[in-house]
Amino acid sequence: MERYHDLGIAMARADVKEIVVEKDRPGRPDAGKVFVAVHAHLDDIPYYAAGLCAKLIHEGYTGYLVRTSNDEKRGGHTAAQNILSNEQEHARVAQAIGFRDSFDFYYQNHEMNNISTLDIRGRLIFLFRALKADTVVSFNPWGHGEENPDHWVTGRAVEEAAWMSGIETDYPEHMEAGFMPHEVLERYYFYGRPGQVYNRVVDTGSHIEKKIDAIVECRSQGDGDAGSKLRARLAKEGKRLPLLGSDNRTADREYARQFLLDDDREYGKPHGLKFAERFYYIDQRRPRVSKVEEYVKQHAAPL
Ligand SMILES: [Zn+2]
Repeated sequence: MERYHDLGIAMARADVKEIVVEKDRPGRPDAGKVFVAVHAHLDDIPYYAAGLCAKLIHEGYTGYLVRTSNDEKRGGHTAAQNILSNEQEHARVAQAIGFRDSFDFYYQNHEMNNISTLDIRGRLIFLFRALKADTVVSFNPWGHGEENPDHWVTGRAVEEAAWMSGIETDYPEHMEAGFMPHEVLERYYFYGRPGQVYNRVVDTGSHIEKKIDAIVECRSQGDGDAGSKLRARLAKEGKRLPLLGSDNRTADREYARQFLLDDDREYGKPHGLKFAERFYYIDQRRPRVSKVEEYVKQHAAPL
């Protein structure tokens, strides 16, 4: 912060108390902009932010998806098999939401608090510069109640990298290679655990089918195949649920719609929305006024 203070630059930050409801905007107002969504595990973005990501892409953004862990602990098989199934499903999640590309960093699952923080930050700085990211979507690095080290390690690295990617004296060799400094000025942090702060409620009603598309690809973790599993169990018992339809794809999608979107409904209710996602949003795009230059303009006298 002292850097900004010394330069007399006013930092613009959204007020936590001020809750803004972000609705659909007509046309493609964000055409030409780029966002990078950074999560740790296959099912993080699908549950926390698939509606927001689908909305941003629909409104013109180009999106990229980064998964930091290797997800080896989830999938019900050996670590190696779990890494493979989560990797394959991650590419399908990216496709379902409409991301242009996805990246996997493969840090060891649940052990990310022992990785090099400089390594992950450096990789993110490179990506933010190479992709010219305007906006990031990730974990709140300071959110209460976070039990999973992969989440907060990822969130902190994203926050540091979003700022540092704009500083030309960090990794100057990037510039030699043609990747110029590029500060990320908008940030959406997930509402990840009960009690975390949020100042933005995003209306995801018209993007809920994409969110369901993403959730049903989360089969190694995230209950994406829970509908077809329930359908098979009931068939063995000689029963069927009309809700689940007559094929596995329908069963998974309708199960997700019925049972896996309770948070989205609850977050929308106070605002009269059918579905919503919550975020702590930071916007640093507002004009930065230099107090020194303002003072000079008003008080400078001829010699
Ligand atoms: Zn996670």
